[in-house]
Amino acid sequence: MRRLRLAACFAFSVSSAAAQVTLLTHVTLIDGAGGPARGDMTIAMENGRIREIAPSAGFAPLAGATIIDATGRFVTPGIINGHGHVGPPARDPQLRQYALFGVTTTTSMYFDQDDAQAFKAAQKAGDLRGARMLTVMYRFMSEPFRPGSEMKTPEEARGKVDEIVAKGADFVKVWVDAQGGRYPRLTPEFTSAVMDQARKHNKIRMAHVVELADARRMVDQGVNILVHNVRDQEMPDDFIATLKARDISVISTLAREEGLFVYGDGPNGPAFLDNPFFQKGLPADRLALLRTKMREEQAGDANRPRWLRMFDTDKKNLKKLVDAGVRYGFGTDSGGALDRYFLQGWFEHRQMELMRDAGLTPMQIIQSFSQYNSEILGIAKDFGTLAPGKAADLLVLTKNPLDDIANMRSLEAVYLGGRKFE
Ligand SMILES: [Zn+2]
Repeated sequence: MRRLRLAACFAFSVSSAAAQVTLLTHVTLIDGAGGPARGDMTIAMENGRIREIAPSAGFAPLAGATIIDATGRFVTPGIINGHGHVGPPARDPQLRQYALFGVTTTTSMYFDQDDAQAFKAAQKAGDLRGARMLTVMYRFMSEPFRPGSEMKTPEEARGKVDEIVAKGADFVKVWVDAQGGRYPRLTPEFTSAVMDQARKHNKIRMAHVVELADARRMVDQGVNILVHNVRDQEMPDDFIATLKARDISVISTLAREEGLFVYGDGPNGPAFLDNPFFQKGLPADRLALLRTKMREEQAGDANRPRWLRMFDTDKKNLKKLVDAGVRYGFGTDSGGALDRYFLQGWFEHRQMELMRDAGLTPMQIIQSFSQYNSEILGIAKDFGTLAPGKAADLLVLTKNPLDDIANMRSLEAVYLGGRKFE
């Protein structure tokens, strides 16, 4: 990209507001709203937001603006990750890694520290050292998980919801999973109390589920988003109809399902281990462990056939949901414990590829991580699509992602709050 700094020439003749304008000129714009790509557009960014989007021809010159000639480039919204993990600490390196891969907003769906509220406030004020973060603060789980299972009664659950909302929870999440019969599930009375209390606080309600029966229960109890797909069986039509009728969203986490077995593939692990884009997010010593210890563990995992089946079921269910017009988002389950290798940044791009393999079009995938995620996470006023007034969180690509969604990896620049993230 050619960068021209014109500010100096006009330093004494323009207002300070005009001096902060950055123009990205001559781009092909894919705005996330689902319409056709628009060629030769100019995007004006100011004070962290998009000020104007218009055809380059006839774009009124703005004195003092920084002009970045992006001829031949493609611009999409930044990736919103609807199911991510920022933890265990430290937070900054993880949010930085997300941003370097084009994730401009992520959810944190596990346990967060008490400074989350202050941290989010600083981000809102423009202190962006990585992806923007939204958090559940706490995850309601069954025994024996600690943290997660401290609350025993519905009353205690309600009290905890009050507490985490006061501490800055953006969403409220329950984890309903018997882990193949190894553990007890949260009881219906308990999850019902959590959902009800979250509703009183007007918070978006999320559930981790695996099995259809648990998904049905949570839907009956008023969940807004299933943050994994149903994976124990193909979704029956009546359930799909219910999801649609109640406007419930589903986030399929195919990259996660694959991550449970893919490192055990073949004698050397999956081919993508050699991909520079994959290696970008992984120190050499961890890559070495992935090729040895992790490969052996996953190759010899007795559950391997089960993970493969669940991955396949997730794909089928995703395609069914999309075809039926159920609202769907984008998420990966990346992050969390390091030895799981749910790699932040890489997972988001892998997820796109796997959604493509499930039968979704590039446009459907782009909309899922931009417009749809902003809507289902309740942040569409400021994020999601690229339009005047919204946050200037956008990606500059050298290849057209509408030709192949894997071209999202041709990431040349990430703009976060109107500034190039480096
Ligand atoms: Zn998760």
